[in-house]
Amino acid sequence: MIQVDYIVVGIGLAGISFCEELKANNKSFMVFDNASQLSSTVAGGLYNPVVLKRFTPVWKCQEQLAQALPMYERLERELNVKLDYKLPVYRKFASLEEQNDWFTASDKPILSQYLSTEIVKNTNPSVDAPFGFGEVLETGRIDVKTLVEAYKSQLQENNQLIDSVFNYEELMIEEGGVRYQDIKAKQIVFAEGFGIKHNPFFNHLPLNPAKGELLIIHAPQLKIDYVLKAGAFLIPLGEDRYIVGATYEWKDLTNQPSETAKEELSEKLKKIINCPFTVVNQVAGVRPTVKDRRPLVGRHSEYSNIYVLNGLGTRGVMIGPYVASQLYNFIENNIPLETEIDIKRFQ
Ligand SMILES: Cc1cc2nc3c(=O)[nH]c(=O)nc-3n(C[C@H](O)[C@H](O)[C@H](O)COP(=O)(O)OP(=O)(O)OC[C@H]3O[C@@H](n4cnc5c(N)ncnc54)[C@H](O)[C@@H]3O)c2cc1C
Repeated sequence: MIQVDYIVVGIGLAGISFCEELKANNKSFMVFDNASQLSSTVAGGLYNPVVLKRFTPVWKCQEQLAQALPMYERLERELNVKLDYKLPVYRKFASLEEQNDWFTASDKPILSQYLSTEIVKNTNPSVDAPFGFGEVLETGRIDVKTLVEAYKSQLQENNQLIDSVFNYEELMIEEGGVRYQDIKAKQIVFAEGFGIKHNPFFNHLPLNPAKGELLIIHAPQLKIDYVLKAGAFLIPLGEDRYIVGATYEWKDLTNQPSETAKEELSEKLKKIINCPFTVVNQVAGVRPTVKDRRPLVGRHSEYSNIYVLNGLGTRGVMIGPYVASQLYNFIENNIPLETEIDIKRFQ
């Protein structure tokens, strides 16, 4: 029998963020993952504190960035991989009116530190932007695929990863903890993303899952070294390759890339750039988005050793570390969860 403090189910951005809390606090743990959900591995990985449709701050953006960026920096050192690519985000203006809205927003509390007040003029012949761009500060891209792969390898080396499906019906609830096959743990944390739909303890929670797809394109004439937001996102990867995304689809909830999404993104791209490009790859995953757009964090209503960390939605890079820390402090230090993220709001 193996005895640990925690079992963690799922090693996407939620599971990784929680395991980092466990490591920092010297807790022992075992992780299960069967690579059935791809949301983290396909994610564009952007972190950006501003909602670019409305020029409003992202919920708790300062707190989220303060928690998230040091975690990725630490993981770069520990895993010996490059994860954090600091890149400005340029929001294309569609009109003079939008420029004015940007200036009004840049005067507001919180936003003033993130919205540059200088309009960036377009000098790139492959991009059509007569009204220029607004630059968002303190933004970048986390290479989430590399993170997940490197994190899993490290867990494997430490014999902490079980590369298989977690079968919920085999979970036994015992005095002072849980047992699963030959593992005894004091607590179990479920972080399965959209996989939560199979979890009998938490599948009543109101997820509103959204499939997302991205294209990877090769565009040798494009030559942009910033993230461009103009209808779609364009994220430079180096060597003339760019991520183009993303789509939102609520009916087809498979991980299969679709022809419809490819067409939709290609059409959007043709409105943003006027140079040739070729699609070299296409990926898809299902985002664990929630009806009220807040994460799903908390303790099972009946079983006090069973927890959930889910609902990271469209911004897992920033929000994951923030909510993982809240969950850890709730379990170990009895610090109440923020009511906005606590699953009690659905009881
Ligand atoms: C196309 C696309 C683009 C995105 N772009 C961005 C972006 O630019 N920036 C950003 O911040 N966010 C982005 N997101 C959102 C982000 O990816 C999510 O917020 C985040 O990945 C959710 O992480 P998670 O750990 O909750 O879920 P997941 O990544 O889905 O991880 C859950 C894990 O649990 C495992 N699992 C599930 N059930 C079981 C089981 N029974 N047994 C064992 N293992 C199990 C799965 O295999 C998976 O590895 C994007 C998402 C998509 C789809």
